[in-house]
Amino acid sequence: MNRTKISNFLNQPKYLFYFFILAVFFLVYSLAVSEIKSYIKLKENNFSFFLNSNKFNNVKDYIVENLNSPYRKYSYSVKNNDTIEKILKKYNVSSDDINNITTEIKKKKLSNIFAGTEIKILIKEESETNKIISLIYPINVITDVEIKINKDEFSINQNILKLNKKEIVLSNTIKNNLYNSAVETGIEPNIIIEFANMFGYEVDFQRDIRTGDSFEIYYERYVDEYNIVKNTGKIIYASMFVNNKELSLYNFKFNNEMGYYDIDGRSVIKTLMKTPINGARLSSSFGFRKHPILGFNKLHQGTDFAAPTGTPIMASGSAVVIMAQKYKGYGNYILLRHNLTYETAYGHMFKFAKGIKKNVRVNQGQIIGYVGSTGLSTGPHLHYEVIANGKKINSQRLKLPTGKILDNEARNKFEVERIKIDVRIAELRKNK
Ligand SMILES: [Zn+2]
Repeated sequence: MNRTKISNFLNQPKYLFYFFILAVFFLVYSLAVSEIKSYIKLKENNFSFFLNSNKFNNVKDYIVENLNSPYRKYSYSVKNNDTIEKILKKYNVSSDDINNITTEIKKKKLSNIFAGTEIKILIKEESETNKIISLIYPINVITDVEIKINKDEFSINQNILKLNKKEIVLSNTIKNNLYNSAVETGIEPNIIIEFANMFGYEVDFQRDIRTGDSFEIYYERYVDEYNIVKNTGKIIYASMFVNNKELSLYNFKFNNEMGYYDIDGRSVIKTLMKTPINGARLSSSFGFRKHPILGFNKLHQGTDFAAPTGTPIMASGSAVVIMAQKYKGYGNYILLRHNLTYETAYGHMFKFAKGIKKNVRVNQGQIIGYVGSTGLSTGPHLHYEVIANGKKINSQRLKLPTGKILDNEARNKFEVERIKIDVRIAELRKNK
């Protein structure tokens, strides 16, 4: 095509129309590009916001850790019998660093670590072994030890966490057992155990609890600056709805003695009888003696009370019958469980009282059997044992907790304290 031909071509109206279409297309295109550009800019702004957010920091940590950096960060959960030395060896830390650290922490008495706690380790990988950059571990609930090694500078610091006391009210209905329901509610195990001990004189946790029973606990927690629970304090109030009745217990301190009392000022702790038999004479006490039948020296792990055959024997505290049967050298034997701590046992009985059998509940002072001489016995007597936490102890020397009732001044102070506690619980319940 020569020049004339081109000008002829453009002069034709059909091609003018195509040109116009093309121009419109470019206009639309450039508008779209500028729109997309500003959109990208907006995205970038959002992205920089995202860069500064915590979410991204986690991602960033992840990326940094997976990049080819010689630094490695670990969080190690301490196992039984672990030592700092053992743990550092697991991470192939140079023996120089291990020696430096272990001598320093031994010198400063900071080498005790505890199973279940977390150790944070930052190391730098080198050709053969690793260098410690920093090491942080707790030595108790409020103190972290922080060790840093920078070139040849070695520093060791104790960071004491500032803990705040928080009061908390938690409650739940019991689904299958108290422990699981309490754990599910977020109650710490040591508080659950203390709670069970408080109610152990009144409630048999294996037999009395029915689905739908409930509990409420008002206690103290100690939290760090991040609101993480570091420790628990005392139980201030607790209640249980069980056996179709509600039992509430209040923490009350009088004459420097802390205890739990019901709404009438009665101590939850009921005494066990030292002598669960009337008109008996202590014939053999707890301790080593020559066994009257076996003939050799043996630790007598109970107290003997001589009494005529048929003399009634009482339950030394309210309890559940765990055993009522012939048992080894004990002859006719009864084992009672009073609470999580105490059990009592009665041997050589002539017979059991009517209705006394396994799983039956008995009250303090209720007759459970009669003196006899069954089993390894030389004459009618009651062999009585007090068992605390599974260990047989001398019932006559043990300072058994007393079942006291607050009176006079103590009672008045208790009433004031009880009302204060009730008011605080009501507030805490509202704020839940
Ligand atoms: Zn005995």
